[in-house]
Amino acid sequence: MIASGNGLEATKKAYEMITAGEDVLDGVVAGVNLVEEDPKDMSVGYGGLPNERGVVQLDSACMHGPTHQAGAVACIENIKYPSQVAKLVLWRTDHVLLVGRGALEFARAHGFEEEDLLTDRARQVWLRWKENLSDTDDWLAPEPEPQTQGVGDGQSWMNPGRYYDHGLYDHGEDIELLAQRVMRHRPTGTIHCSGMDSSGNVSCVTTTSGLAMKIPGRVGDSPIIGAGLYCDNEIGSCGSTGRGEANLQNQCSFAAVELMRSGMEPAEAGLEVLRRVANHSHPRLLNDEGEPAFGLQFYLIRKDGKHAGVTMRGKGKFAITDKDGTRHEELVSLF
Ligand code: ASP
Repeated sequence: MIASGNGLEATKKAYEMITAGEDVLDGVVAGVNLVEEDPKDMSVGYGGLPNERGVVQLDSACMHGPTHQAGAVACIENIKYPSQVAKLVLWRTDHVLLVGRGALEFARAHGFEEEDLLTDRARQVWLRWKENLSDTDDWLAPEPEPQTQGVGDGQSWMNPGRYYDHGLYDHGEDIELLAQRVMRHRPTGTIHCSGMDSSGNVSCVTTTSGLAMKIPGRVGDSPIIGAGLYCDNEIGSCGSTGRGEANLQNQCSFAAVELMRSGMEPAEAGLEVLRRVANHSHPRLLNDEGEPAFGLQFYLIRKDGKHAGVTMRGKGKFAITDKDGTRHEELVSLF
């Protein structure tokens, strides 16, 4: 089992279930459910940072290697486990992707209860962001001036140079400090988990609250088959976290699986798709060295059991559980 860095418990859970004989897809979905329900992970599910209107909108997709079936939901609101709804789209409809109101109605038809996913902490961070967007509108930050002044200058949210921190974990710090952290580095975050059983059957799932403070209705890469995830039971599996738009423009998870089909090692395939993204990136997204200033990661497993995690820039870790246990390993970076 392989997952993004926030997926240690997810890979462990998936491994336990799959080695006990459960279907790989059931295992990886149950794994990511642990993160969807964790209010401290502010990039996924309950507790995720909302869109610019203060509404949590979630994206998720899953794919089942043995049948090559896929299911996904995008912009779904008020449902704590969007990955479970994606799995129902896969098994219980003749479709692949349901969005917005239709996705919610489908979830309700299957007995999911609606609940408010915006935690008080996420609401306060969103509010502070809103109050710091402009000093010529009517939203005022509390007096005395918080230390966030000058940090939430609006620019940081639009400057792609800041768009590379992955994930946002709430350590319970003072809310002003948390808001400051968010405003300094616009967080992205998601969990992806891919798994393979001892017979070589693969499956994968990706789930997210997407880009914090996004335009309502924005759909990222996570629920798009071929971008946020893809698997082929003959080859392996790949999934992603990071700047969704870059992944959508290059269909990287599909491309990476195809590169592994042509004989590439998982790390090589992952670095090659990152290179394509880098070569296709708009100049406004590049740093002074001409490199993408944003973060993007891929997690790959190949049918022979080889695996890798790769990242566009900097250091980072991904999660693994296999017969040697549960651990973090280092991402290989392009820049
Ligand atoms: N890929 C996600 C999205 O673009 C966000 C992330 O993983 O950081 O919605």
